[in-house]
Amino acid sequence: MTGVGVSPGTGQGPAFIVTVSVPEPPEGATYQGEADQEKQRATDALQQVAGVLELRGDRVGGQAREILRAQAMMAEDPGLAVAVRGFIDEGIAAPRAVYQAFARFRETLAGAGGYLGERAADLDDVRDRVIGELTGHPMPGIPSEPAPPDEAGGAPRPYVLVAHDLAPSDTALLTKDLVAAFVTERGGPTSHTAILARAMGVPAVVGCRGATSIRPGVHVRVDGTSGQVRVEPPGSDAGRANGSDLGQSSGGTWAGQVAARDAGGPGRTSDGHAVPLLANVGGQSDLDAAVAHGAEGIGLYRTEFLFLGRNEAPSADEQQQVYRAALAAFPGRTVVVRALDAGADKPLSFLPPSDGEPNPALGERGLRLLRRFPDVLDTQLEALAAAADGSSAHLMIMAPMVATAEEASWFAGVCHVRGLASAGAMIEIPAAALRAESLVTVVDFVSIGTNDLAQYTFAADRQLGTLGTLQDPWQPALLDLVHRTATAASDNGKPCGVCGEAAADPLLACVLVGLGATSLSMSPGALPAVRVVLAGQTLGQCQLAAQAARGMETPAHARAAARSELPELARLGL
Ligand code: PEP
Ligand code: MG
Repeated sequence: MTGVGVSPGTGQGPAFIVTVSVPEPPEGATYQGEADQEKQRATDALQQVAGVLELRGDRVGGQAREILRAQAMMAEDPGLAVAVRGFIDEGIAAPRAVYQAFARFRETLAGAGGYLGERAADLDDVRDRVIGELTGHPMPGIPSEPAPPDEAGGAPRPYVLVAHDLAPSDTALLTKDLVAAFVTERGGPTSHTAILARAMGVPAVVGCRGATSIRPGVHVRVDGTSGQVRVEPPGSDAGRANGSDLGQSSGGTWAGQVAARDAGGPGRTSDGHAVPLLANVGGQSDLDAAVAHGAEGIGLYRTEFLFLGRNEAPSADEQQQVYRAALAAFPGRTVVVRALDAGADKPLSFLPPSDGEPNPALGERGLRLLRRFPDVLDTQLEALAAAADGSSAHLMIMAPMVATAEEASWFAGVCHVRGLASAGAMIEIPAAALRAESLVTVVDFVSIGTNDLAQYTFAADRQLGTLGTLQDPWQPALLDLVHRTATAASDNGKPCGVCGEAAADPLLACVLVGLGATSLSMSPGALPAVRVVLAGQTLGQCQLAAQAARGMETPAHARAAARSELPELARLGL
């Protein structure tokens, strides 16, 4: 089966099919007794569910905390409570009233498409929890312990979790001992399954039709890079010892074995060319993972997780505390914080676009939105400056969604006035890459966001699973833009990092270095394998691999061409 690979690596194990066990309450169901009592029952259930979600969020922290908090807010939404009470007033029993009220909200969300559309699964999960609370039905089961060892003995095995869609409230509690990979029928690259899988460093494939028909317990092999899901015949151990994967989840995968050779230390090629390997983080628990995996600093702090799901921006004090924690985790090291990247698939109710946006990804997002709401940027920069005061970390701040040198210059000016000496621009829009020669002269550094750069270069919505090939970072046109940007930066003596998911693929990481990237930033779990693979190649070999890849016409050919220039990879089984 094929879906869209959204979290790189290969994972395998027995299939665990997550089934939704909360049935739809029957239409027309009525209640006995007083309406007020029935309303109270519904209110209690909504509150109970909100409380549990908040608690879970506090327990797991990081990005998951923000996501679960947003779900708790759905349960507490006053408009929803009014709708539930309205249905109860019509004589409808509380479980059905809850079902109908959520259905009304779901329609609005699903119709919105994009980020909000992908939140419809979160809403369904909240609904099922509330109905389960009212009817006593158990919630959809997720494994609480790993599968027992197979016939050959050995250790307990993590599962491949297969579902229609997974709710963050479930995935947030999962650990790598329990899950080797995720496969869902629904969802896109920015669904929460994808975001959390990447944060966990577990391979994931979404949009994989028919996956839930896999028989529970059969051996499944998931390639989160290519999007392939292979169901292996019972008893087969084909591929289990295969050393050709980019897996990073359970023991026995290629990256697991390669990562085991990681002795830590700074990222560098075999001939000593330094390439700092940094982490992409979204919150406190990612910071812990970044330190644990030997990150040399932070290459992308996605500050929007602090803002999402709120009715107003977090205060300067709250922000300052969060940023201080990030700087404290990497004393003396680089910490690149991205200014709020809101809009499009990450809308914030308190920063609405000025007009209806038929194509939000092409609308007011990132820096465009910050220029319209300068107070929000001001507060964020104030908090960052205060957090950096007295810290030994080297704080760098970059703007998301920069299209022109004029925009980059404006942002750098605002940062410099605040005493923030290192201001940069993300290169995510083809225009910025095409005119990188002038853009780099007005900033202190650039960082290439390959996720959005692919989306805009190929006019292929990154949330659409069906356009996965066009979003493949091995696309030679994308490599051309990376090369152009990195060359312009180098000519002007400015650093050029890569912080999109592309950097997490060890082979592509070598190519990016060959194209001129001066640092790479990725999900923390990907760092060890990238460090080991990079240490096996010379800079010259990386450059030859980059040149070979750019000479091809398709992503598959680009990959194969790069691979053939890096013979040392054979020793690592790649
Ligand atoms: C990118 O676009 O590559 C990037 C790193 O930013 P995000 O994925 O948060 O949009
Ligand atoms: Mg981006």
